[in-house]
Amino acid sequence: RPGQRWTMRIAALSGTERIVFLTDRSVIDAADRMRSDFVANASHELRTPLAAILGYVETLQDMNAEADAPVRHRFLSIIEREAGRMQQLVLDLLSISRVEADRFRRPTTPVDLGAIVRHTIGQLHDSEHPRAKDIAPELDDGLYPMLGDEAQLGQLAHNIISNAMKYGRSDTPVTVELVREGHRVRLSVSDEGDGIAPDHIPRLTERFYRVDEARSRSVGGTGLGLAIVKHISERHQGQLHIESELGKGTRVSVTFPITDGA
Ligand code: ADP
Repeated sequence: RPGQRWTMRIAALSGTERIVFLTDRSVIDAADRMRSDFVANASHELRTPLAAILGYVETLQDMNAEADAPVRHRFLSIIEREAGRMQQLVLDLLSISRVEADRFRRPTTPVDLGAIVRHTIGQLHDSEHPRAKDIAPELDDGLYPMLGDEAQLGQLAHNIISNAMKYGRSDTPVTVELVREGHRVRLSVSDEGDGIAPDHIPRLTERFYRVDEARSRSVGGTGLGLAIVKHISERHQGQLHIESELGKGTRVSVTFPITDGA
C-alpha cells in the first residue's frame, strides 16, 4: 500500500532458530497522526472563543464606563456566550477521554434503558430548553434491561435528542421511540429538519466533524456529540444507524442487546 512502512526485528530462539517480527508501522503512524490531529483540533476550538473573550475584555477595559453602558452589556453577553462554549467543549473533551478510557471495559451493572431515557427527557424539560416542549416520547412502559453504564447511556440519549432539537425546525416534533426488536432494544430519535446529505453521514461520528461549522457553532455544537455517542454505543455492543433525507429530517437509532433472554 502507498505510505506503508514496515520494521523488522529478529530475535534468536536457539543456536539455529530465529524469530522474525514484522510490524506494520503505517498503523502506528496513523494512530499517532490521529492523536496529534485531535490535540491540534481541540486547541484550535478552544483558541477561537478564548481569543474573542480576550479581545472583548481588552475593549471593555478601554471603554468609558458611563457613556457606553448598552455596548458594555452587549460585550459582556458575548463574553458569557464564548465562555459557555469553552465550558461545553471542556466537558465534551473530558467525556470523550473518559469514554475512550473505558472502551475495553464491558459494563456489568444491570440498568433499564427505558428509565434512563425517561430521566434524560425529564432533565431536558427541567433545564427549560426552549425546544423541550417539542419532545414527543413514544415509550411504552415495558422494561428494557441491559448491562450498562447509566451515566454514559444517559449522555448518549441526551446527545442524540439535543441534536434533533438543535437541527430540527422549531415547533416540529422530536420523536423519541424505544422499541423491542427480538433480543435487542432500539432507541430512535427523529426530527423534522434540513437533513444531512448522504456523503456526510459516514463521517458524522468523527471528532469535530461538522456538516456546517457556522450552523453547528451558532446552535452551541462542539462537533464531539456523535463521536461520544459512537464510543458509548460500541462499549455497550450497540449499533448506531443514521438515516436522513434532505429537506425532510433525520433519524438516529442505536440498538442494544437486552439481557432478559426474551
Ligand atoms: P455538534 O456538536 O456540532 O452538533 P455532533 O457530533 O453532535 O456535533 O454532530 C456532528 C454534525 O452532524 C453536526 O455538526 C451536524 O452538522 C450534523 N448533525 C447531527 N445531528 C443532526 C441532525 N439531527 N440533523 C441534521 N444534522 C445533524
